[in-house]
Amino acid sequence: MRISVESDQCAGIGQCHEVDPELFPLDDDGYSAVGKDRDVPADKEEKARIGVDSCPMAALFITE
Ligand code: SF4
Repeated sequence: MRISVESDQCAGIGQCHEVDPELFPLDDDGYSAVGKDRDVPADKEEKARIGVDSCPMAALFITE
């Protein structure tokens, strides 16, 4: 599994980061620094789904 952020849609709300700060890092301005196609360790897949679902801007995406 990989996760990506559509930076144009990120509003810097930080809900993803609260779910798991390692999976969903923020930049210095509080916007998502997930980037594109970030690898998710197998034991973090459930957390990744929760974090992606938590984004109120639908800015995060999963690629299986
Ligand atoms: S929850 Fe969504 S809008 Fe907020 S920082 Fe994460 S990706 Fe951006």
